[in-house]
Amino acid sequence: MRDPVIQVEGLRCSYGDFEAVRGVDFEVARGELFGLLGTNGAGKTTTLEAVEGLRRTSGGVVRVLGADPLADRRAIRPRIGIMLQDSGFPADLTVAEMVAFWRETSSRTSDADAAIEALDLGHRRDVRIKQLSGGERRRLDLLLATLGGPEVLFLDEPTTGLDPESRLRVWEVVRGLLANGTTIVLTTHYLEEAEALAERIAIMHRGRIAVAGRVADVLARQPARIGFDVPAGFDVGVLPMLSGDVVHEPSGRVEVRTAELQRDLGDLLDWARADGRVLTGLRANHASLDDVFHAVRADGKAVSR
Ligand code: ATP
Repeated sequence: MRDPVIQVEGLRCSYGDFEAVRGVDFEVARGELFGLLGTNGAGKTTTLEAVEGLRRTSGGVVRVLGADPLADRRAIRPRIGIMLQDSGFPADLTVAEMVAFWRETSSRTSDADAAIEALDLGHRRDVRIKQLSGGERRRLDLLLATLGGPEVLFLDEPTTGLDPESRLRVWEVVRGLLANGTTIVLTTHYLEEAEALAERIAIMHRGRIAVAGRVADVLARQPARIGFDVPAGFDVGVLPMLSGDVVHEPSGRVEVRTAELQRDLGDLLDWARADGRVLTGLRANHASLDDVFHAVRADGKAVSR
């Protein structure tokens, strides 16, 4: 990989006898956003904490900006920004006080007012942290993690609890950081967020990476779907021969899962035209990350790398 900023090889982390991360490998190139997804308890936060230098590992190698994030923490810390899942900031400080305090402790210079405005917290400057809504607190967390423009930014579920508009605002801020060359690792449960922001993703399940790659490649490995409504008593035997699997669902729809979307869709449309049929509720989609996620969960093991 060209200019890897983060390198993780054979990472293992345990809590007592329980091994939460069981040999994880990935690299993140300078300026890219890498999405770490996974099922609940898969080990995303543990992995992220190891890469952030906040957790001792039980095996493997982690390098961030060429250094060991735990042993070389003093050198690395000023160059990275961390947005934890739960930041635990002093509840009695106001937004403006917290930002000022944080700015003082940081070696990076920053325009605090511009950052407050970018995350739509200007009208909440003098409100105490304990009085912020969950979404406002999440935006403050992001603001503090990004203050001064870190080279590498870790975002652990940055938009959990945000309404759709606030989520889009956060995406805008993240895209702005990417445009400025920031390298970002993001964990999220929102698959559309990973699709919208990440160049490459890894999906973890039970301590391991089950699927990894560029988003488009990961999606291309899953079958596409074609679906349409059929009347009661429909006989799927009348359909043309298709390369995909045809399922007649009890809801009264036919669903086709196919690796040959264009060919099967073409054959279906030719058949419908020749037969004078209208395919109501017709949908044809490439696989989504949802589909990949369900396949990982269903397999319970590595499906591809
Ligand atoms: P989620 O998506 O639910 O936030 P995650 O992928 O971030 O999960 P982790 O929080 O890294 O997963 O947890 C991985 C596993 O380690 C889980 O089974 C969790 O129960 C366990 N675990 C996490 N923290 C501890 C701890 N302090 N002590 C013991 N086990 C822990």
